[in-house]
Amino acid sequence: MKTLALGLAAALALALPAQAQSKYPERPITMIVPFAAGGPTDIIARIVSENMSKTLGQQIVVENVAGAGGTTGITRAVTAAPDGYTIAMGHLGTFSAAPATYPGLKYDPINGMQTIGLAGGTPILIVAKKAFAPKDLKEFVAYVKANSDKVNEAHAGVGSVSWTTCTLLKGQLGVPKLNSVAYRGTGPALNDLVSGQVDFMCDQIVSVAEQIKAGTIKAYAVASAERSPALPDVPTTKEAGLPEYQIEAWNGIAAPKGLPKEAVDKLVDALDKALNDETVKKRLLDLGTVLPTKEERTPAGFAALIKRDADKLSPVLSAAPKQ
Ligand code: ASP
Repeated sequence: MKTLALGLAAALALALPAQAQSKYPERPITMIVPFAAGGPTDIIARIVSENMSKTLGQQIVVENVAGAGGTTGITRAVTAAPDGYTIAMGHLGTFSAAPATYPGLKYDPINGMQTIGLAGGTPILIVAKKAFAPKDLKEFVAYVKANSDKVNEAHAGVGSVSWTTCTLLKGQLGVPKLNSVAYRGTGPALNDLVSGQVDFMCDQIVSVAEQIKAGTIKAYAVASAERSPALPDVPTTKEAGLPEYQIEAWNGIAAPKGLPKEAVDKLVDALDKALNDETVKKRLLDLGTVLPTKEERTPAGFAALIKRDADKLSPVLSAAPKQ
């Protein structure tokens, strides 16, 4: 017995250096959401981080730092100390569209941050206030072209997903300028859409799905190749007569460059575990989120997605009016 105890003690002593390396995280982690509460980025961040906290054994505290199309919060997050205690939930806008939109951007999503992984794909919908005159997408297109001086478009700031995806839409319709109303996130923009203060917006499915189902706003189309299982009655842009309008958005996690490998590995593992959890999966799928593939959940897979979309978007966005 004594020998066994001694043997165990020796084995534990041998294991100590490894343990000493694996202390992270020792205190709560801040996840910066660069938009207001209640929007898609905030909703995905809260669902995923709650489960990641359990795996990491430390609380992930979500902090909303809104402004400048999400670039204020991402700047703060990716220029923080690379110790794993500040991370961010960004998206297609902040990571792929912002560099072409803000020439003086203080971060470089391609070479200047540590990607963790994709948290979810988010189909884009063209949605409008309930009382907006056009009944379907064809009528919407004709109406916007004929009334470009009157139509109010809501978005979450220049460079955000709503701004980016509506900028592509307006480019295709040949109406580069509408009256745009910028919000600190599409959570507050959606409130104004429901109460009829603004006419329409392009947004990620996550926060609009429930409102569409409840009939408080209407959806003209989803800009994906297939209908969303969360909204089976909403046609695709192809079905509704605007096949060239195809764009997929997404949300994912990044951290400052220079993060120790141990922290990267633990965050990647916690994200993967969250996305494999049945409750998390159900909550995300009910909101229309597309679950990431194994590859997209890795730092390299997510970095490749950011670059692919940045390459695709920059020619259009650098030339677009920033309003
Ligand atoms: N979906 C928003 C956007 O337009 C951001 C948000 O509120 O999550 O970028």
